[in-house]
Amino acid sequence: MHMLEDIIKKDKAYYMNTFGDRLPVAFKYGRGMKLYADNDEVYYDFLGGIAVNAIGHCHPDFVAAMKDQLDKLVHTSSLYYIENQANLAKKLAENTCADKIFFCNSGAEANEGAFKLAKIYFYKKGIDKYEILSLDHSFHGRTLATVAATGQRHYQAPYEPLTPGFRQIQPNSIEAVKEAVTDKTAAIMIELVQGESGVHPMDIEYAKELRDFCTEKGILLIIDEVQTGMGRLGKLFAHELYGIEPDIFTCAKALGGGVPIGAVCAKADVAAAFEPGDHGTTFGGNPLATAAGLAVFDIFEKEGLVENSEKMGKLFKEKLISLKEKYNDKITDVRGMGLLIGIELKPEIAGEVFKKLFENKMLTSLCKGLTIRIAPALNITEDEIDLFVDTFDKIMQEI
Ligand SMILES: *Cc1c(COP(=O)(O)O)cnc(C)c1O
Repeated sequence: MHMLEDIIKKDKAYYMNTFGDRLPVAFKYGRGMKLYADNDEVYYDFLGGIAVNAIGHCHPDFVAAMKDQLDKLVHTSSLYYIENQANLAKKLAENTCADKIFFCNSGAEANEGAFKLAKIYFYKKGIDKYEILSLDHSFHGRTLATVAATGQRHYQAPYEPLTPGFRQIQPNSIEAVKEAVTDKTAAIMIELVQGESGVHPMDIEYAKELRDFCTEKGILLIIDEVQTGMGRLGKLFAHELYGIEPDIFTCAKALGGGVPIGAVCAKADVAAAFEPGDHGTTFGGNPLATAAGLAVFDIFEKEGLVENSEKMGKLFKEKLISLKEKYNDKITDVRGMGLLIGIELKPEIAGEVFKKLFENKMLTSLCKGLTIRIAPALNITEDEIDLFVDTFDKIMQEI
């Protein structure tokens, strides 16, 4: 039997059907931007495993670092000191506005940690604040608390009653924030660019006003950088681009180059609320996962990937905006910063364009049935960008 058919048969028989019919391909191996299917067809990964593969697939330095760590140690437990964990925490703290770091295994888990930290911060002060506000159209994860924070009804409805204390408000409106806040509001969590819902950036003015308002009212500002972090927007973290400092930010997707790891990053006074026993994890920040994070940082620094993200992102967006001008009856918007770009299409053609991209071996995702999302490796070249733009041009002519 053909290998792909065999995999699909097993998947349908034994795997929970949370992903429905997936795209009909299984990859055997990858190199840089390229993924090789089981029938040896080559695909170009313009989605980067949903903003995870920031250094591309199987970067030789990353592979070497992982092999080296596998030979030494995978896991010990949080009962002992872990050299890689301490070094990666230092890296994150030295390169961001955060002072202290906690490692976990995913984006949702990082956001859960951020909620717990915000709540315990007020609890330890004896202040009765527990409510967390987030934004409509946001995405913060799939655990019960992060579902309660995710402003998309279809993710919430089956799991009611939801975790109490969460409420969503209109994005990009400081008035909405002022109206919604009560004396019980502990924190506001936002994405500076909403990724999952189709690459929707917040205004810089909104972000700055929100920062000032939170400071004035004694509310913690939490920025979910799970998707926007690690150079995605052309700065190491999105909040740098916006010129603001959150009290807590979370990070995951690209941090481990594909090895699962998440991080809660906080200012010293906030982080101090976590005392021994208040939070924990079995796997979080283990020697293997933190070796992955260290390898990613090394490659970022050696190859100037944050700078490349800014430069290539600008170029990519310019070329896509030219296409929008050429096909303004089909392309309705081109949004994003750095290498997180959304191409919004007329609803009648969006699904078909996504399908044609896949048939042309270009991997992207389709958000809300409307917007093609691009989040490639940060070491993408101009030739690879041209390949996408030329293919997109061809599809626009055909459709
Ligand atoms: C992907 C994502 C998450 C969830 O991360 P998981 O690792 O899937 O739990 C949370 N927030 C944002 C902004 C994301 O893009």
